[in-house]
Amino acid sequence: MVFAKPIGQDVVLVNPVNTGGLILLEGEVLGAIARHRQRSKIAPEQGGVLLGYRRDPHLHVVSASFPARGDHATRISFKREDPSHAAKALRMWKNTDRKIDYLGEWHTHPEMHPNPSSIDKHAWAAIRAVTHEVMLFVIAGTDEDWWIGCGDHNGIAQVDPKLVTAP
Ligand SMILES: [Zn+2]
Repeated sequence: MVFAKPIGQDVVLVNPVNTGGLILLEGEVLGAIARHRQRSKIAPEQGGVLLGYRRDPHLHVVSASFPARGDHATRISFKREDPSHAAKALRMWKNTDRKIDYLGEWHTHPEMHPNPSSIDKHAWAAIRAVTHEVMLFVIAGTDEDWWIGCGDHNGIAQVDPKLVTAP
């Protein structure tokens, strides 16, 4: 999906898994992820975790972690292995009296119109299998397109690009 609004502004999406739920993505986080898009022909994939509030049935993404030296990245793969990702999630969780939680994962793809790979689906299934929470999965393409999906232990669904609401 391509957002009609300039990057850096908040986006509200309809959550395909939680009935009546919305997904609020803060513009600052979207902008920071967008700056990691694989715009050059040799740029490796990038990724991190999504952090924010669970306000049942809504998700509110307020922060993310970003690639670090210990991650394993190639042109077509990203393995989040640097301890800084989990450390940031834990730090924010503690500092907010357990209110800011691990909401999901983001990574980039070296394609203009990103779609989850079979490796992505397997990795996400492993995350979904160990939680009863709804998790958010974001892929940023090379240009301005995004793939955004939500899932729980029952399955995963893509956010309908037509169901973007103005905040
Ligand atoms: Zn991927």
